[in-house]
Amino acid sequence: MASRIYEKAYFGDRLVPLVDAHVSVASSAVLYGLSVYTVFPVCMTVKGRAAFRLRDHYQRLVNSARIIGMDTFEPAWSYERFEKAARELVAANGPTEDVFVRATVHVHELVAGTRSRGLGITMSMFIYEAKPIVPQDGARLKTSVWRRIPDFSIPSRAKVNGAYVNSVLGKQDAIDSGYDDCIFLNVSGHVCELSAANIFIVRDGTLITPDATSDILEGINRKTILEVARVLGIPTIERSIDLTELYVADEVFVCGTSAFIAFVKEIDARAIGAGTMGPVAARLRKVHADVLHGANPAYTKYLTSI
Ligand code: PMP
Repeated sequence: MASRIYEKAYFGDRLVPLVDAHVSVASSAVLYGLSVYTVFPVCMTVKGRAAFRLRDHYQRLVNSARIIGMDTFEPAWSYERFEKAARELVAANGPTEDVFVRATVHVHELVAGTRSRGLGITMSMFIYEAKPIVPQDGARLKTSVWRRIPDFSIPSRAKVNGAYVNSVLGKQDAIDSGYDDCIFLNVSGHVCELSAANIFIVRDGTLITPDATSDILEGINRKTILEVARVLGIPTIERSIDLTELYVADEVFVCGTSAFIAFVKEIDARAIGAGTMGPVAARLRKVHADVLHGANPAYTKYLTSI
């Protein structure tokens, strides 16, 4: 079931009813998927609502726009403006539960042709219920028949809307085969990520995740997990991973804003580890949830009261 969406959206430079937030059918956003986006959580903490790693989300939007050549975004949207818009949106909707905010920069220019520089952009933001996109009680994954788009075609590092057709293909293929989500391999056959989450394995006590040159999105939760693990003294390695390493891993889990931290119990009809949540995933999941909800003093630096 789809998530509930809150009524008020931010669009252009003001709040409007969500039903009135439109980009044109003739815009590059619609014609070519020429928009970049991010989704950040706003959680209920002991000190009220807080956005998690808002600056990192803004910076990833900036980086995505730079990669694509959407050069009118950065001059128009400082971090301060971005935070102010998010603040107005959250205040207007007043959520009393954990929610996600989807912020998108659309190229609104009409029939501009297949190019990106010097074109008008519109910011949109809306809020929806924070429902996980993968089961939290043991996800079942299938290797995708579709490969991840390589950095030399459409970079995964850029969170560009059009590229998500690749994710849709992979996820639908998994669902059609009775699985919860897919595992993408890159053109060289190494493990990348899921349709919208990063992946970790644990082998002999070491936490391993595909490195940033494995055609992955540089996930903000991935970065957080690596930092938390290092602080906890869990050895971490970022390197390319073979598919068969997943099959023999002690633990496999995935992370992302919309996936939270979810353990994987089955991949390609093979049980993973003991088929239950492993100790490393359980430990990291607890710390991660505490970090997001302001219950871990060491990480309140990542929270923006909103
Ligand atoms: N990979 C992909 C393809 C994604 O869409 C997402 C969700 N943004 C992630 C990984 C996880 O990233 P994050 O931790 O920043 O949500």
